[in-house]
Amino acid sequence: MIESPGPGAEAAPAGWWGRFHRSQLFDYNAAARRLWLALACVGVLAIIGALTALARAPAIELWQVAAWLTIVAVAAAFPIQIPRSKHSIATGDIVIFLLLAMYGAGAAIVAAAIEGLIGAVRSSTRWSSRIASMTAGAAGMTLAALAFQSVQEALQSSGLPLAGAHLAALAAAAVLHYVSTTYALMKVITLKRELKLGFREWFEGSAWVGSLYLVSAVLAGMLSLNAQQFGRSAVAVGVAIIGMSLALLRAHFRQQIVAHELQEARVAAAEQDAAQNQQRFHSAFTHASIGMAIVSDAGRVLQVNNALCSLLGGQAELLLQRPFRDLLHPGDASLLDRHVARVLGRQEETFSIELRCQGVQRGEIWVSLHCALFGSRSGEHTGLIFQLHDITSRRRAEGELHHIAYHDSLTDLANRNCLHERLSVAVQRSREDTRFQFALMYLDLDRFKIVNDSLGHPAGDELLKEVASRLGACVRPRDLVARLGGDEFCILVEDVSRREDVLALGERLLAALARPVMVNGTETRPMASVGITFSDMGYREPDEMLRDADLAMYRAKSEGKGRLALFDASLLEQLGHKLQLEGDLRRAIGEGQLSLVYQPLFGLDPWRLLGFEALSRWTHPVRGPISPAMFISLAEECGCIEALSAWAIEEAVKQVAQWRDLAPQHPDLVMHVNVSGRDLSQPDFVPRVRDILARHGVQPGRLVLEITESTAMEQREASMRNLAELGELGVKLSIDDFGTGYSSLAYLSTLPFDCLKIDRSFVSDMERSPKNVEIVRTVLTLGRSLGKQVIAEGIETHEQLAQLKELGAPAGQGYLLARPMPADKATQMLREPQVSPA
Ligand code: C2E
Ligand code: MG
Ligand code: MG
Repeated sequence: MIESPGPGAEAAPAGWWGRFHRSQLFDYNAAARRLWLALACVGVLAIIGALTALARAPAIELWQVAAWLTIVAVAAAFPIQIPRSKHSIATGDIVIFLLLAMYGAGAAIVAAAIEGLIGAVRSSTRWSSRIASMTAGAAGMTLAALAFQSVQEALQSSGLPLAGAHLAALAAAAVLHYVSTTYALMKVITLKRELKLGFREWFEGSAWVGSLYLVSAVLAGMLSLNAQQFGRSAVAVGVAIIGMSLALLRAHFRQQIVAHELQEARVAAAEQDAAQNQQRFHSAFTHASIGMAIVSDAGRVLQVNNALCSLLGGQAELLLQRPFRDLLHPGDASLLDRHVARVLGRQEETFSIELRCQGVQRGEIWVSLHCALFGSRSGEHTGLIFQLHDITSRRRAEGELHHIAYHDSLTDLANRNCLHERLSVAVQRSREDTRFQFALMYLDLDRFKIVNDSLGHPAGDELLKEVASRLGACVRPRDLVARLGGDEFCILVEDVSRREDVLALGERLLAALARPVMVNGTETRPMASVGITFSDMGYREPDEMLRDADLAMYRAKSEGKGRLALFDASLLEQLGHKLQLEGDLRRAIGEGQLSLVYQPLFGLDPWRLLGFEALSRWTHPVRGPISPAMFISLAEECGCIEALSAWAIEEAVKQVAQWRDLAPQHPDLVMHVNVSGRDLSQPDFVPRVRDILARHGVQPGRLVLEITESTAMEQREASMRNLAELGELGVKLSIDDFGTGYSSLAYLSTLPFDCLKIDRSFVSDMERSPKNVEIVRTVLTLGRSLGKQVIAEGIETHEQLAQLKELGAPAGQGYLLARPMPADKATQMLREPQVSPA
């Protein structure tokens, strides 16, 4: 109780006192030591005095006292500890005061000394403390006994009855015993620690002892009064009963203390567990490689870990207490709010979403965010825990893949897939909401193939890029321009309020494309044919709409290219017919439904029959005559043009052979036969022609194969080889419809042809257009300078004929001169003299 070292401890003297000093009082300062010594001396004297007094008592009394002292010793060894308090009840006090009341000061002093000693032995290992407690008890009881004696006498003499005086005197003794003992002991401690002992400190530290002394004194007083009245045996019974009840109380308190200690141990273990958990969570949170934040229900950041700081690129201080949504991309904040509201409303336990954060240095960061409620130990949630995983690179890669999947690599426009998806959505929307109208434009470049073939693929690519950028510049941002492949483009025009707007856009596109562009050093105008269809046709599939826009585009092409055409139902009907016709045409070639008519070609000056152009005719068994423009292009599309051309060459050569016999007066007649580009690329084309000529015994020079100017410009390597071989064979070649194709005269002059046919459009417009006259004049000059035959096609009027003659045109063909006619008519004509219509 008084063992802790004092700050002013001094060096010990020599001798037994010195040894005691060193072992027991080494931490006492002089004042504390003096008081300790004084207390010990007074206490020892008191004990000696008490023992001396006891020695004089009768033996019987001594035995009784000894028995009581034993009880005191046992009670001191087993104090009653009060649960959840550091105080204990020294039950021996009742006996001490009882001894004072019944046996006088000597027995009480010895009892107080024993109680002090045993109590101190239990609580301290140092003899300094034990001696101090023992002597303080003896000294305090000496004073108490003196007080008891004198107060009782004074009260009795003042007339108070014996019982009252006895109790009051015992109470006074108890107070004095309490004050003197506790003050002395506490004073030694405070002196040792060089502290001040004020009344308050003393009272607060010892009031508990005082109250126990008082209660013990009063109980002892009543027992001793009983003894006076009923004899000492009654007291023994009373003490035994009190002792038993105190023993029961002690057992009960003991049990409570054990239970309390168990409880405390459990709480301590749980707290330790919680602290460990807390520690584990804290280090897992702090050192996790994934970004983590604890966010309040109101959305404020309460805690962040290192990974999140480095993910967002900022210090923790910059993030704490900020609304978490401030760290997000503004476009994604409401997405998070919606999910958080569901979690707080217990509609879902957790969620994972992908959204964008605003990094401090890195800008936009894609994260995968997982959210769960963050709970306390009692199970109540205290906020939300967010885990953020950086998925920026994955998102970027996905974005690039998506871009590749939905864009055309050359022009970076949307591709067919992308158009198809957007078109599906638009078709669906227009079906659900009839007010939503849109249009689809199908755009195909006119003569792109020529650019590609003559200027090379890189030039073609340049042109496509230019076209893409011009188209993009014409449309509104919400419209979609897509490249389907090759030279085909589509434009999805959404939210159409008036058809006129779409047509105006189409015109703008054509005007934009018509501007000249330099490609590979050559100026060209990327004209296009545009087909348009509108959603109010009631489409159910995007493919239907694409098909119709495509059909309309073909109409634009067939109506003269470089123009717009709208889809209407008649085109679909045509499509149905077309498919049927294709089948019919295949059969027609094999079944002899085709025939040839022959249109004469004349030398204009002098007038003479040069030969014929063989023109195919098809009279459909049901539909009647079908125009060559229709069935020739059909044959080219369905892949039966080779069969048709082979049949036409065979028929025409056979006819030449017949006329050689029937009209020997025309030995030099030539036969022009039209062939297509596809024929010329066939590897067996020349052998087949050679075979036909040989079979009919016709000189190759009598056969003139006509190819259109655009076909001539598209020639590939295989065709060039064929053309050269035909030349070697002696077959003549003619460029048909000259002036309508891609006019690179320089290139044309390199081709091995013998004849040029000026297109009908120039001839028919000659009267009105001086420009056309100039063109015809130039072609005639070119023909002459290259040494080629030039034939003017489509002469319909006398004026045209006169003008051509004036320009020096050597040859002509046209309705004015002769219409195409069947073979028998032509044979008849051969027998008649030839007269100029002029
Ligand atoms: P083309 O080779 O330019 O043949 C001349 C076309 O002009 C013929 O039309 C002829 O009837 C027409 N024509 C001749 N003079 C006049 C005239 O004064 N005024 C007008 N308005 N037209 C005139 P057709 O027979 O309808 O043939 C059209 C085209 O079909 C031909 O144009 C030719 O390119 C092609 N074609 C005809 N038969 C064959 C064939 O057997 N094979 C191939 N590959 N193409 C053929
Ligand atoms: Mg022709
Ligand atoms: Mg022609």
